[in-house]
Amino acid sequence: MIVAIDGPAGAGKSSVARASAAALGFSYLDSGAMYRSVALAALQRGRPPADIAGELQIELGDRVLLDGRDVTEAIRDRAVASAASRVAADPVVRAALVTKQRELLSDGDWVAEGRDIGTVVAPEAELKVFLTATPAERARRRALEGREDVAAVTRELEARDDRDREREHSPLRAATEAIELDTTGLRLEQVVERVVALVGKRSASGTPER
Ligand code: C5P
Repeated sequence: MIVAIDGPAGAGKSSVARASAAALGFSYLDSGAMYRSVALAALQRGRPPADIAGELQIELGDRVLLDGRDVTEAIRDRAVASAASRVAADPVVRAALVTKQRELLSDGDWVAEGRDIGTVVAPEAELKVFLTATPAERARRRALEGREDVAAVTRELEARDDRDREREHSPLRAATEAIELDTTGLRLEQVVERVVALVGKRSASGTPER
């Protein structure tokens, strides 16, 4: 089974997807880490992202390895996040990474998170969740994570979300059949419970309750 979790930056996708995968015994795919890795490699090597996206070895797990080098912390940098959303507008980069993502998802049970999992990467996903939260809440969470200034984080998130929503190829949007979940004011456990319950309903009846 594939559970697709999409949504804007800071809506809680990573925490929710990772914890839901653990609760369900599924594997977890952080597709954003792939775009971040391509952006980091392009910055460090001074190469066009489209030229390197297909050849990079990106290994996702407890640590993120880029051509064997541990980049887990490096890809979380704010400059890399911003570069990732520029790199992600390139259809050549997207095609290379979507191929890698589909290869992973072809085997076993997965919770996969990103911007286009339910719409492009795995339109066949049995459950699609679109996570949202108010802009203020999203910026507050990100600022807490990185101990950063809320105003600076707000600007970065807004710029990134605008680029992700307005790009021509695979823009951020909810799949028509996605269940929208507003996480504002909810604790992580509450959101995970909801996702796990939706998976249970999906398994039992084939149609999740809205
Ligand atoms: O999810 P995360 O914040 O790590 O993603 C970083 C950037 O990668 C996003 O702003 C977006 O531009 C891009 N991305 C994407 N499609 C995905 C996952 C991430 O375009 N499936």
